[in-house]
Amino acid sequence: MAQLIVSKFGGTSMGDAECMIRSAEVALRQGSSMVLVSATSGTTNELISLGKTAETKSWEEAEQILSKIQSRHETIAAHLELSAARMTALKALFDEMASLTKGVHLLKDCSVKALDAIMSLGERMSSVLFTEAMIKVLQKNGSAKSAKWFDVRDVLRTDDAFGKAKPITSEVEKLCKVHLGFLQDFKTVVCTQGYIGRTEEGMTTTLGRGGSDYSAAIVAEAVNADVLEIWTDVAGIATTDPRICPKAKPIDEISFKEASELATFGAKVLHPATLLPAIRKNIPVFVGSSFDMEARGTWVRKEVEQYPLIRAMAMRKKQVLVTFSTPEMLHTHGFLFQIFKLFNDYKVSIDAITTSEISVSVTLDDSTLLNKKLLADLSLFADVQVEESLTLISLIGNNINHTPGLAKQIFETISDINVRMICLGASKHNFCFLVNEDQSTEAIQRLHKKFVEM
Ligand code: ADP
Ligand code: ASP
Ligand code: MG
Repeated sequence: MAQLIVSKFGGTSMGDAECMIRSAEVALRQGSSMVLVSATSGTTNELISLGKTAETKSWEEAEQILSKIQSRHETIAAHLELSAARMTALKALFDEMASLTKGVHLLKDCSVKALDAIMSLGERMSSVLFTEAMIKVLQKNGSAKSAKWFDVRDVLRTDDAFGKAKPITSEVEKLCKVHLGFLQDFKTVVCTQGYIGRTEEGMTTTLGRGGSDYSAAIVAEAVNADVLEIWTDVAGIATTDPRICPKAKPIDEISFKEASELATFGAKVLHPATLLPAIRKNIPVFVGSSFDMEARGTWVRKEVEQYPLIRAMAMRKKQVLVTFSTPEMLHTHGFLFQIFKLFNDYKVSIDAITTSEISVSVTLDDSTLLNKKLLADLSLFADVQVEESLTLISLIGNNINHTPGLAKQIFETISDINVRMICLGASKHNFCFLVNEDQSTEAIQRLHKKFVEM
């Protein structure tokens, strides 16, 4: 029986017409039934700058960005020899982009809601182009399948947290049954968008930067896919970011638990939430390079053959360490509850924590500092100290909290680098600590050499 495969292709895999054709060939070879695509490389950043420019600068400046984005898509359209119908669809999106930009400019207000509507155009434009590439590749290979453009917002129901909307999985599942039941016939390749969704009221949302991986996983869960594929510009998950350590090695197989830690603690190759839906339905995830179909890639599964002590490492930059101290914490209860309740009220997520008798330190993304009201509320309970420009380094593997001598080896390797905070013990898969941002690359390079290159 055929397998139901959901594939996602990232921005570089949509870089130009050639990349789109190559990605469509991958989708054909893999037998994908549903393909979610990102915006063409660089477009989401440009759409953000379009919104901000329209809000704060002259119309001429906004127009320049508009025409740059438009001409990139027109070039791809020309290379793909877009059909008249798809050209009309693409032009309608250009018009929508211009109207939204004009609206923002007139109001001098680029709200998160408006920005989501603008950003959604990236994926909506690239998916129209990719549909053409898919049709051409199916025809060229004499495939009996057809390709169909689909608006993912018809199924990807989210809440209204614009800019970082949360999918409502029960609704997505129901909507997929209504709109995508035909996937089981295996006659169609559905070409659609990652990253975007829609609220119950019909407003367009986005799932947060890099969110196309997550979209694909949510859809894979909802349609009961057999496999989820993430196609990107590197041949799978490596032992660390190959841009930091050129000797990073590809990983053949990694467990859900390790890969989740890796994604959460900074490996950009997967959006942090991607594996949650896959874990819920036990869907194996493949990560591969659309530029090199022959490369082995990485399988992420519930169970794997080998469980090494240190499999990989990651870093998460732009961290702040916030320390709360108050003598009232001594031998009393409820202090931590009050602090964490505030973080919950403000929907701020904490990465790592340590406590002493009268103080507690947590690491947060530095964007949290923009929330002055949260900081003011926190200082009602305790003295608040903030240290900036830090990086959280994580070593990911197995049995980490039960291995004698590991901490010694780690800290000997970076003995001249100040370690500001350590988190060990909570997870057998993760050992993480904070260092100054300007020493983080050096720390990862040395640790990689010690534990992986050896
Ligand atoms: P896409 O646009 O396809 O989603 P991303 O840029 O989001 O691609 O993710 C791929 C990038 O993730 C790679 O180019 C690589 O630099 C980076 N990366 C970070 N950590 C890792 C890792 N451990 N293994 C592989 N790639 C990694
Ligand atoms: N295009 C979006 C971004 O650049 C989503 C994605 O590529 O995953 O963040
Ligand atoms: Mg990505």
